[in-house]
Amino acid sequence: MKKERKLIIAGNWKMNKTVAEALGLVRGLKIELANVKEVDIVVCPPFTALSEVSKAILDSVIRLGAQNMSPNPVGAFTGEIAAVMLKEFSVRYVILGHSERRQYQKESDALIAQKALAAHAASLKPIVCVGETLAEREAGQTEKVLQTQVPGSLAGLTREQVAETIIAYEPVWAIGTGKTATTAQAQQAHAFIRGLLAQLFDESTARRVRIQYGGSVKPANTRELMAQPDVDGALVGGASLEVRSFADIVKNSI
Ligand code: PEP
Repeated sequence: MKKERKLIIAGNWKMNKTVAEALGLVRGLKIELANVKEVDIVVCPPFTALSEVSKAILDSVIRLGAQNMSPNPVGAFTGEIAAVMLKEFSVRYVILGHSERRQYQKESDALIAQKALAAHAASLKPIVCVGETLAEREAGQTEKVLQTQVPGSLAGLTREQVAETIIAYEPVWAIGTGKTATTAQAQQAHAFIRGLLAQLFDESTARRVRIQYGGSVKPANTRELMAQPDVDGALVGGASLEVRSFADIVKNSI
């Protein structure tokens, strides 16, 4: 598939996988995806498995991501993890502002922007999640939500930092529900986000940003979603927990 930007497929394992299970999964992916060069492949295990997974993927095309980090560099923040600690395990990406964190931990756009700044300061690439709830979509507020979340979650970033940020458009109603946005709905939202980036930064920055789709991505719907001009990859939850389905998503995106 010829794309303007290199696709990036990331697996968000959420609060799943013990260290032993994580190693089983990543070893299987290493075998299945050994020769894939066309797509950036990222796995985001829980913090507790980062060390072992990091060692297991050393000689592979798979890159490591974390699921969250603190906006602060060091200090009295019980239970938090700093960017520099992630770097110790060769983490390259960090998911920020996932809708589950926006919902359960009440993360705000301003906090997510602080985390994105801290990630860039440590040369980590943030994967910043945005997306509307079902009630917001049904009320015709999808664009209004994105108009708030996109500038709010990227506030203070330079053009260069934005170009190195991945945005994940994840309609909340499609996450873990088996309901996928139609290809038309995904493309429309992605094009809208890219238009916002052009307004907020500039056209050439907007063209460089990779925008992933997330929400019940499966091997069967990958090809069609990835064929959309503004869809530059996927953030995958449930289907990233099995070797077969995640490997097939990556292969079907090529
Ligand atoms: C996610 O949580 O980022 C996600 C997209 O989950 P799922 O693929 O299970 O819908």
